[in-house]
Formats: sequence, structure tokens, C-alpha cells
Amino acid sequence: VNHLDVDIRAGTSRYPIAFPHQLGREAAGVVVAVGDGVARWKEGDRVLVGSAPSCRSCSACLTGATALCERPRRPGIDAPGGYAELASAPEHGLFAIPDGVSFEQAACVQLAFGTTWHALIDRGQLRAGETALVLAAASGTGTAAVQIARLAGAHVIAAVGSEAKAERVRALGVDAVVVYGEAGDLAAAVEAHAGPRGVDVVLDGVGGPLFREALRVLRRGGRLVSFGAHGGETVPFDLIEFFRSYTSIVATRGSLASEIESILAELETGVLTAVVDGTYPLEDAWQAHERLERREVVGRVLLVPNAR
Ligand SMILES: [Zn+2]
Repeated sequence: VNHLDVDIRAGTSRYPIAFPHQLGREAAGVVVAVGDGVARWKEGDRVLVGSAPSCRSCSACLTGATALCERPRRPGIDAPGGYAELASAPEHGLFAIPDGVSFEQAACVQLAFGTTWHALIDRGQLRAGETALVLAAASGTGTAAVQIARLAGAHVIAAVGSEAKAERVRALGVDAVVVYGEAGDLAAAVEAHAGPRGVDVVLDGVGGPLFREALRVLRRGGRLVSFGAHGGETVPFDLIEFFRSYTSIVATRGSLASEIESILAELETGVLTAVVDGTYPLEDAWQAHERLERREVVGRVLLVPNAR
């Protein structure tokens, strides 16, 4: 379950949704049937469903820039999603799950680990020895991001909304945890850990007032990578302050197939682990949504078909 599912259900996602609609951006399971001409997969293969298989025919795809595909077939947005016993996917829209990776872990790979891997390493250019600040570090994406930043050899400051969540994030081995409340707290708290120079990369899946606070804790030449805005979608922005700061604001979404393969390999060796908050039977999806809406979740929430 991703927070986007909640937004789509509530009608606030800003994606055009055709009805009837089936939610579910991510799914993992076993191949039960293949279409004519499918060579890569056979019955019984353990797979996860790609969250944005490229169309392979638009101008971006034809130049190899599949991440910029104009017509991706996104489960749970443009195509029926994973809240189901059975789902379909194009042949190139599946990934093999390594033997040592559970369905639960595999189902968490793309939007939590894939998005934040692409955001930190590719878009944010985070390198060993640099300092990363991860906002909403207790969330599904946040718990993935702090692990990826550590794997990259970065110092990690995790920012969370409550002391209860701080405990869970500390267990992931971050260098410092900042608990933010009202806007204005973040800069002082980060300076206490990173010094007045500031941080190299901020991963911002929150937006709103925190986005502006986070810009102020970036060092000169630092990068803020933005991929979410549940904290506020429209933000007043001081351009003078911005260009004098010589920082970059980078937009990101999605991930590359090669990144998903890397993450699956790290999950198999145990270097990365999806933090799972809880699992629910598919028919209790509403309970999972309510937990996400109450911001009670640490890590990921999963739905299991036929769990009863
Ligand atoms: Zn395309």
C-alpha cells in the first residue's frame, strides 16, 4: 500500500483516473499463465510487477530514455493495480524475485527503495562522505532512503515528526535523528549535527513549510531532491535567497530497471531490509488506508490476498 493509493481513492492525486479503477501500484506473486509469444517467463516464476513499464514506442522510449516514457502503463493509475488475487503485466514489465527475497520484501521494492535510490544516487548525486538529510524518515520511503544513503557511504541525518518514530529510525543506524515540530525547528536542529556548513543532499518527500526549511540547511552547491508534497503542494518561494545559495532543486519520480535489480540483490544479501509496519487481508484494505491517513505507520503496510 502506498500513500498514493489513499490519494487516488480520495480523489486528490491529480492523476486522471478512469473507472472502474483497481488500486495498487506494487504487487508480487507467482506467474500462473503466460500469453502467446512470451519467452522470458513461465508458470511458477516468482515475480514483482513493474510500477511503470515503458511503452517502448514513444519518442523517449525510442531514444532509450525509458524513464521519460510518455505513455507508461502504471498499475494502479493507468492499468488495473495489485489489490487483487490476479493481475496482468506486459512481458517486459516484470522482475524476477531472487530466491532469498520474500514476496513481502519484493512488494516494497519499487516505490520505497526504487524511488529513493534514484532520487539520492542518480538525481541527487549523493556520494560517500557527504551528509544526507532524509525528511519523514520513518515513512516507507524514509526507512528505505536512510538505508540507501548509508549504503552509499553518506552520513545520515533522519528527520521525523515524533519522538516515538525517532526510536524506530535510530534502530536503522542513522548518525543523528532530528524531531521536527513547528516550522523553524529544523534548521537549528540540523546545524547542531551537521554544523553551520549545512548538508549536501536533502531528500524531501514532504514539501510544505518543511521544503523551505530544508532549503536553508543545504550547503552551497547542495541538492534538494523533491518527490512528494503531502505537507503542502504550493509553497511560497524566495528566488533571491535561492539563487544566492547556489543550490539545486531536483525533481524526481520512479526508478530505472537496473536500480531495481541492484536493490533486489541488496535485499537478498540483507544489506537492505524493507521495514514492514503490518500486513492486512486484502478485504481489510480500508484499515490499511486509515492507518496511513493517521500517519501512524513506520515503514510499509502490505495487503495479502486470501489471508483468511
Ligand atoms: Zn514510451
